[in-house]
Formats: sequence, structure tokens, C-alpha cells
Amino acid sequence: METPARTIDVVIPCYNEEPNIFSLVNEIDTHIDNGKYDCAFIFVDDGSTDSTCLEIKKLSEKRRNISLVKLSRNFGKEAAIVAGLKHSTSDAAIIIDADLQHPPNLIPDMIREWEKGAHIVDAVKTRRLNENLIRRTASAIFNKIFSRLTGINFAGASDFKLLDKKAIVILNGIKEKTRFFRGLTNWIGLNHVTVEFKVEERNAGTTKWNTLGLFRLSIDAVTSHSQKPLQIVSVLGIFTLIFSFLLGGQTLYNKLAGDAFSGFTTVIIVLLILSSFIMIGIGLLGTYLSKIYDEVKGRPICIVEAHENYRKTTERSPSKFSGRHLNVVNRLVGSK
Ligand code: UDP
Ligand code: MG
Repeated sequence: METPARTIDVVIPCYNEEPNIFSLVNEIDTHIDNGKYDCAFIFVDDGSTDSTCLEIKKLSEKRRNISLVKLSRNFGKEAAIVAGLKHSTSDAAIIIDADLQHPPNLIPDMIREWEKGAHIVDAVKTRRLNENLIRRTASAIFNKIFSRLTGINFAGASDFKLLDKKAIVILNGIKEKTRFFRGLTNWIGLNHVTVEFKVEERNAGTTKWNTLGLFRLSIDAVTSHSQKPLQIVSVLGIFTLIFSFLLGGQTLYNKLAGDAFSGFTTVIIVLLILSSFIMIGIGLLGTYLSKIYDEVKGRPICIVEAHENYRKTTERSPSKFSGRHLNVVNRLVGSK
């Protein structure tokens, strides 16, 4: 008896990706053996303001394997990935950007590694094309700091991954709200294999990240995977205490020697340094505190406004959910 084809979901977070929807699916199609694998596309519309949704609906009229998870507003890529994975029902899921910067021609290699037993196949960037020097340097510095603080090497890491069902179930069971997908997939362990790729130019549209957004992501990434910054503040405190003793001794000596006013510059410098340390320390505490506040509030990571499943059992039978009878599921992702 013939064994049934293994199923694969392709999860695509989309924020204003209208020009990329058709070209992405056509490109991915040429790289997945449809006879061997039953493949479905899960598009997550992360509150797009262009015609991304409409394009996905148009695509669903031409194909049988499309579903759309529509978020109620823009929650960010991390939340979009969470929503997509919550709706995955297949043996594996491939997470890929909509703009073709993650080359679909890598998919056969990823599937091969999965078939050999990998639970997570990480696609690692060799180098980004045309990325400006500032962004490259910033990303190199971030990776260095991140690796030091968390003990995980993130150079070249990307969100382009294949996850086995086992990994998907584990990730879906994690309740943490502040997510850093790359960090979490590493944290859960299991059998990882890496494949390399060169980042292509964006197919169409523009990047959704600005410097502030990237800075926020870096802070989130570090604070959700390491408590070392808090420990560093304590260590700095000990150093400044030793320094204060030394300086206190010198000041006392000056006073006894009748030369008390000469240390005025030192006092100002010390005051400035110490107050900077204190401010940084308070800021750090605030960052961790706001994370705890977010977790305690217990709000879902994102809100799914509708899950429109256009998948049809055969090529010809009309979709049960298409047209006016859309399967609109009003539910919170976190409550699944
Ligand atoms: N994206 C998203 N929500 C956002 C920002 C981005 O779902 O708030 C998606 C976007 O549509 C794309 C992927 O995340 O599919 C990567 O985004 P982008 O290409 O802007 O990032 P870059 O490649 O510049 O890092
Ligand atoms: Mg991109």
C-alpha cells in the first residue's frame, strides 16, 4: 500500500506584501515535489494596509491549498510567526519571508535534512547583498553582545527555518509573550541542522524595519534570553564601591593635609559617572519590569480577526469556506 504523502505548511508572515504574493507561491511551487509532499500555504496578514489580503483571496481562487490568518492589526513579524504556527497542522512547517529574500531554491535541501531526521533546519545567511556598512556593523556588534550574554551564536541566523511537528508543538506550548523566534528555536534544543544561503534583493516593496524597530528587537532579544545585564549592574556596583573607598581615602587624606578644595574636578567627574551608572541600572530594571508586567497582564500575543481556510479537498470541488461563507473564526491565538 502506498504511504500517504507527508504534509508541509509554508508559513508566510505578510505586512504590505501585495506585489510579492503570486511570485512567491509560483517560485516555491517549482521547488517542492507535489507528488511526494502535500503542501499548503498559510499566509498571515499582519494588519496590511495595501491589497495583500485581496491578492491572497485571488490566489485561493486559482489554487486549492491556501489559507489566510488575518490579524486584527499590525502586531509585528514575531507575532505573525506565532499565529501562523498555531494554525499549522502538518508534519512540518517552513517559515519564509514574503519578499523572496529567503531563496525558495533552498527548500529541497531543507526537506532533505528533515527527511534525514532533523527537527529544525536553520537557514543561515552567508552575507547580505548591498546592506550598508552601518547596518552590517550594527548587526555584527549585536550578534557579538548577544552571543556573549546568552551563550548562543547568532551570527547569520535568520527566521527562514523548517520545523518538524515536534518542534512546532513545543513552540506552540510556550506561553512567553515577548518572543524572539530565532532565540526560542535555539533554546528548545532538539536536532538542529544548518544550511547556508545568500540573501537576495527584495523582490518588490520596501523593508518594514527602521533603526528604532531593530533597536527594540535587539533589546527584546537580549532581555528575553539573558539575565546577565542585571548581574552586570551589580558587578558595576561593586566596582564603583571599591572606587568610592579609594577616592574617599584620598579625599580624607587631602582634608587632613589641609588641601581639601583641590579635588573638586574629581568630585564632578565621579558624580557624572556614578549617576550614569545609576540611570542605566534603573533603565535596565525598568526594561525587565515592563516584561514582567506584559507577562502578568496575560494578553494574547496577537488577535486573529479571521481564519479563512480556502483549502479544498480536490482540485474541482468548491471550497467549503470560500465566497460569502467564509470561515471566520473569532478567537484569540493564545486561547487555542
Ligand atoms: N513582516 C510582518 N510584520 C511586520 C514586519 C514585517 O509580517 O510588522 C514580514 C514581511 O512582510 C516579510 C518579513 O516579515 O515577509 C520580513 O520583513 P522585511 O523584509 O521588511 O525585513 P528585512 O528582510 O528587511 O529584515
Ligand atoms: Mg526582507
